[in-house]
This record gives sequence, C-alpha cells and structure tokens, in this order.
Amino acid sequence: MLTLLEALQHADATGTAVGHFNISELIAMKAVFEAAREKNLPVVVGVSEGERQFMGVLQVAAFVKSLREEFNFPIFLNADHTHSLAKAIEAAKAGFDWVVFDLSTLPFEENVRQTRQAVEALKAIRPSILVEGEIGDIGSGSEIHDAAPASSGQLTTPDEAKQFVEETKVDTLAPAVGNRHGMTRNMVEGEDRKHLNIRRIREIKEATKIFLTLHGASGTDDRDLRDAIAAGITVVHINTELRVAWRRGLEATLASHPNEVVPYKLLPSVVESVKRVIASRLALFGAGREHSQTRSAN
Ligand SMILES: [Zn+2]
Repeated sequence: MLTLLEALQHADATGTAVGHFNISELIAMKAVFEAAREKNLPVVVGVSEGERQFMGVLQVAAFVKSLREEFNFPIFLNADHTHSLAKAIEAAKAGFDWVVFDLSTLPFEENVRQTRQAVEALKAIRPSILVEGEIGDIGSGSEIHDAAPASSGQLTTPDEAKQFVEETKVDTLAPAVGNRHGMTRNMVEGEDRKHLNIRRIREIKEATKIFLTLHGASGTDDRDLRDAIAAGITVVHINTELRVAWRRGLEATLASHPNEVVPYKLLPSVVESVKRVIASRLALFGAGREHSQTRSAN
C-alpha cells in the first residue's frame, strides 16, 4: 500500500494535493474515510491537541489503523498543531504518521532550534514519521470569527523558509501565504472568500523544494486553491467547513426527528452532511494541472 511519503510525492509530481481533514469524533472520521474511498484518493485525518485529547491519543490511532488495515486503504493520521515535544513524542509512540510541530509563535531562531531537536527525537522513535514545521502567523482556532482577526499580514519569505527547512530538516513546511485558521460569518454564508498569494507560494516552493502545507483553507476561493496547488501546495487542511457542516447536519436531523433517540438512526445524515464538503474538496484537490492550464489558456 501507498505510504504517506509516496502519497505526497505522487501529488507533488502530478500537480494535485492530498486532503487533510480534522476530526473530533467518529461522525467526521466516517465522513473522511467514506469520501476518500469513493474517490479512491489517499487522505489524512488530522487531530489537534484538543481534538485528540477528546478522542484519546491511542484510541484515534487505533481507529485509523483499523481502517487502513481492514480496507487496505491509504488513510493516515496527523498530530496537527503540536506545541510541545512531550505531546509530539506521545503521538509518535502512538503510531501517528505525521506531526505538525508548531512553535510558530516563538522567535524564529528559537523555533528553528526546537524544531530541529523535535525532528531528531521523533525520527529516533519512528523513522518513517514525517515532521512539519511552521513559520509565520496564520492565526489559531478553526472556528467562526465575528470578523477577520487582526493579523500582522506578514507573509513567510522565501529566504526564511529556505533557512528554516535547511536548518531543521523538516519534511513539510506550513507557510503563511494569505491563509488563516477559522472563517468569518460572511465566509460561512458564502458572501466572502479567502484569497492567497500565489506568487509567494511559487517563490517559497522554488526556494525550498519541500512539500508545502496550506493550513486554514476553509472558506478559500476555489480558483485560488487550484492555483495554489499548481504553484506548489501539496497538502490542504480543511477543518472549519467540516465543523459547520457537522453542526448544520446535526441541527437538521434533530429538528426533523423530534422523538428519535437512536443515534445510529439520527447520525447517518450528519455523516452525509460532512461527507459532501469533503467530497467536493477532494474533487478540487485531486483535479490536477489540467484545470490551471485550462484557466491560464482562457
Ligand atoms: Zn492548521
């Protein structure tokens, strides 16, 4: 079966991206797995520190492993936004395939120093594990914000990206290229979209030649996402859009079945609600270069 590294290499070579979807519970887990299987695309399940504390570190690892083995399907698990070496080591020992080691709020030199140490420590525990580093400010909290949060607006520069990658030996890099965690109310209503700096993505990709991960992609303009993937983004993280679909699906099923108490009768429609979002994002990420080429030919 495809390894995570091979899945990223294949996406990089074909101008497509691998979808990364955060979950907190089994409805979203089922939605991710079913959507990926229907599209026959490798997929990554992400759990932040809060999400995996709720599910249980060992429990979420066991669940993903059981899906991978029973169905012989390339579904992988990422310890998203891990802020301490202790939590990163816990995830590596539990069998996670990937760790996002996020010290992006620290000064650059300190982020470099500690991320390099984390890469060494994690690979010693699990040589196949991938480690992602993060530089720049892309906000925190995959939730609904009343307004666009005040941001430095500072994009990651190609020079600092190159230095960070060379000195830390990370496998993947999360840059700030106009992306931001969470969505505004206007984005949830479809009245506003996020836009990305495509040129900066291309410059960082050329400077680093590393796999680039786009965090906080919920609410991003579809055309920007396609162009970002063509410019060098290999992994796209979606969380808030799934949470919105989860809540709306849950509200709808409870409203339409006021007397039902059987979870397995109420919840399949919530799975469907989340799955629709994942399927449409996977279709976009997996579309490949022809889309951008068609567009630039227009
Ligand atoms: Zn993120």
